[in-house]
Amino acid sequence: MDKNYLSRVEDIEYFPDTLKALELLQTLEFELFVVTNQSGVGRGYFSLESVYVIHRQLQNDLRTHQLLPFKDFAICPHSPDDECVCRKPSGKMIQDLMEKHKITPEQSFMIGDKIIDAEAGLNAGVQGVLVRKKHGDHFPFFKNLMDFARSLKK
Ligand SMILES: [Zn+2]
Repeated sequence: MDKNYLSRVEDIEYFPDTLKALELLQTLEFELFVVTNQSGVGRGYFSLESVYVIHRQLQNDLRTHQLLPFKDFAICPHSPDDECVCRKPSGKMIQDLMEKHKITPEQSFMIGDKIIDAEAGLNAGVQGVLVRKKHGDHFPFFKNLMDFARSLKK
C-alpha cells in the first residue's frame, strides 16, 4: 500500500498478492508491524483518529483473510518541521517496537517502497528492504512483497 495521505477507509487498496505475501510471512513465523509517517496529522490535513480508523480497518481486513492481525503499529504524527525524533528515516519507532515486543533485530526486516523506510531499518539495526520502487543499489530490492516473502522461504 502506498497512498500519500491516505486518510479514508474507502481509499484503502491492496496491491495484488499483498495479503497472500503477509500470509506467507506469518507462515514463516514473522510477526508483522506497521511503522508509518503520518505527517498529514502534523500538517492538520486529518486527525490522528482517522489514522486509527484506517489501522482498525487493516486489522479487520487481515482477520477477514484468516490472517493474524498486525502485532502493533508505530505512528509518527509529526510534520518534518516539528523535527521530532520518530519520523522515518529515524530508527526510533522500530527500535521502540523491538524493545516493547522483545524482537531480535538480526532476524527482522523493515520493508517499504521509499528509501526512508529502508534507511529507518538500517538506523534501527534491522535489514532494510525495498519493494516496488528501486532506489539505487544500497538495499535489497524486490518487485513486490510476495517476491520478498518467497525469497525467505527455504
Ligand atoms: Zn515524529
